[in-house]
Amino acid sequence: MINAQTVYVVLFGNPVAHSLSPQMHNAAFQHLGLNMVYLAFKVEEAVEAAAVMRTLGFQGASITVPHKQAIIPHLDEVDEMGRAIGAVNTVFAQDGRLMGYNTDWLGVVRALEQVTELRGKRCLILGAGGAARAAIYGLQSRGAQVFVMNRNEERGHRLAAEMDCTSVDWQSWDRLDVELVINATPVGMSPKPDQSLVPKHWLQGRTAVLDMVYRPLKTKLLREAEAAQCLCVSGLDMLLYQGAAQFEIWTGKKAPVDIMRRALIEPLEDEADQDH
Ligand code: NAP
Repeated sequence: MINAQTVYVVLFGNPVAHSLSPQMHNAAFQHLGLNMVYLAFKVEEAVEAAAVMRTLGFQGASITVPHKQAIIPHLDEVDEMGRAIGAVNTVFAQDGRLMGYNTDWLGVVRALEQVTELRGKRCLILGAGGAARAAIYGLQSRGAQVFVMNRNEERGHRLAAEMDCTSVDWQSWDRLDVELVINATPVGMSPKPDQSLVPKHWLQGRTAVLDMVYRPLKTKLLREAEAAQCLCVSGLDMLLYQGAAQFEIWTGKKAPVDIMRRALIEPLEDEADQDH
């Protein structure tokens, strides 16, 4: 029951209507009997998100596209990971100060660590946007060697130089020998689920594939990776583990990961049923 003591945590982004974070976090709050509610707000500018948090005294926030970088100057402090990645996806209000964190990198690492060890692994990341930056940071923190491939090669080269990894030419599959593959682009996402950037034959012999796309749950890339006997990690797991880390920042309690996973999977399975 919402009452005058209810603590509010909110999502700021544009758009937000497709987000599964409200289901995930509200299920976790309810499961632990916390008097907390998670709401989603579409905001045009990051500055508005910070101002609303301060004015209305919200306890925490998720920050999503397109505000993850733009929010930084409006916060009082940003943790080391958020500074290194250059993006914040989590805000926690502590003693009137807005503290920024990045948990996307943890989402990548924890999702992959469910299926494989990362230390010493050679890993290809497709994409050079914010999600790729988080993945590079996470993989490097676990001792993996990172290669970046981006459609806009110049952008990929710049990112690799900045984050001390190796950039490879777009679609230079024959010269690439990696064990892990991460899709950090929107390719394969509904309403165009029959696309994949990775040639099917090249997946043979890779250890694991993470597709950050989670609509549909099983993308073309993951279906082909499964057929090539790779270990498959869905973008839903990344979403889950970045969310679990957010929950722990806001509440100081261990996240009920199984409850949160169920809250994410149910709507996605319903969507899949409707598509068939
Ligand atoms: P972003 O900053 O906009 O970057 C998008 C990247 O995808 C760019 O490198 C872009 O390449 C590339 N790209 C876009 N369309 C492409 C196409 N048709 N062919 C080849 N490359 C293409 O986005 P982001 O925030 O990094 O997010 C990337 C993806 O990860 C999105 O689908 C997002 O939903 C997903 N994501 C998932 C989670 C999760 O929890 N599962 C978390 C964060 C993000 P150019 O530089 O050439 O334009």
